[in-house]
Amino acid sequence: MITTIAKVFTGQMEGKEISLRGWVYRHRSGGNMVFAVVRDSTGIIQVAVKKDKVSEKDWKDANDAYVESSLTIRGVVKKDERAPGGYEIGATGFELISRGEPFPVAKDLSEEYLLDIRHLWMRSQKMTNIMKARHHIVNYLREFFNNDGFYEIAPPIITRSGCEGGSTLFEMDYFGEKAYLTQSSQMYAEVFVFSHEKVYVLAPSFRAEKSRTIRHLAEYWHLEPEMAFYDQKMNMDLQEKMVQYAVEKMVKEHPELLKACGRDPLELEKVLAPFERMDYAKAVDRVNELGGKMAHGEDFGADEEAILTKEAIRPMFVHNFPKDIKAFYMREDPKKPGTVLNSDLLAPAGHGEIIGGSERIWQYDELVTRMKEQNLDIKDYQWYVDLRKYGSVPHSGFGLGVERFVKWMLNLDHIRDAIPFPRTITRCYP
Ligand code: ATP
Ligand code: MG
Repeated sequence: MITTIAKVFTGQMEGKEISLRGWVYRHRSGGNMVFAVVRDSTGIIQVAVKKDKVSEKDWKDANDAYVESSLTIRGVVKKDERAPGGYEIGATGFELISRGEPFPVAKDLSEEYLLDIRHLWMRSQKMTNIMKARHHIVNYLREFFNNDGFYEIAPPIITRSGCEGGSTLFEMDYFGEKAYLTQSSQMYAEVFVFSHEKVYVLAPSFRAEKSRTIRHLAEYWHLEPEMAFYDQKMNMDLQEKMVQYAVEKMVKEHPELLKACGRDPLELEKVLAPFERMDYAKAVDRVNELGGKMAHGEDFGADEEAILTKEAIRPMFVHNFPKDIKAFYMREDPKKPGTVLNSDLLAPAGHGEIIGGSERIWQYDELVTRMKEQNLDIKDYQWYVDLRKYGSVPHSGFGLGVERFVKWMLNLDHIRDAIPFPRTITRCYP
């Protein structure tokens, strides 16, 4: 019977003869013994091969195996306190499926080399664990919205205009005309608040980020909910609930995986709503009090966000930014003119911005006036402006960078490890 390593570790298989399919993780031979550590998608386990317990052919296979050779083993499950996971397999059969060539990944390789061979490095325990965690995190995020009556919408990736400023647009030739890879699906999500009311998009966004940072990718996965009849407060409340949902689920259902990724679940457990909500002006003062240097009217950089969240254990909102430094579609706060009804959610410990959200301008005249102020050509956005002509309603939305969220949840050093094949200014291979 073919089983999995995770099943063996449940203890149900003790004393039984089982078969496993997998890959050699480590390999050591000497005298009449071969010790192979074998992995499958569920875990890793030690296999002891004794010369007199297997056929001649299997003994040869066991000796010939390389790290990463694929194989089928047969053996008896034994309890062994010293073995990782508490169980070991005494092989009765050892058959290579593909011996392959010597694997080019060993210890102590440079980051650059590991990125060159990313397609093989994906098999490492580190990346396997991170990608499993990412899977669960994305799953919980989707689940959160699906449970709350949201519809998932499919936006186009090729677009006519950007919405986050021209400097980070990737241009392409679209049958002889200019088009762009989308920077955000927000505008397309807005189309659906007038029919589905609560929607979300989970799709890649593209930004030609020209600087190298530990939190910018040129291609990232963007979760963009958009809600009819939501104001700024409801928007922030929803973000808070969403973050707490994903965190609680991970802590409860995958604490071991979190640990394997280097994140202490007890630390995450403290991430309980409500999150602090701080006005932009106060946040700037706070940065300056804490030793930073920043003028009112400037945007926060990574350093300022780090200063602001240094003492925090939960994420915090900064809201009501000056309208001049924010996107044209954000609604001005009637109670605080000159500022918009937006918020950034900053993750603690230097991780920084994970969400940007706002109430959208929903009235036609207001939108046209703001676009003129920002020297935008209405023609480029005609369809978007049109939405305000027919039964428009107040609405809000936000954008969560999935890799930023994963980076914070797993406390990763760099955003590139939150995605299998990071696209950055210097790399789009493999
Ligand atoms: P930043 O100031 O960090 O560049 P932004 O203000 O450009 O962020 P938004 O345009 O508000 O970000 O995008 C919404 C969210 O998308 C951000 O909060 C962040 O989580 C994510 N995001 C933005 N740019 C990137 C990027 N280049 N790589 C990965 N995630 C990103
Ligand atoms: Mg940016």
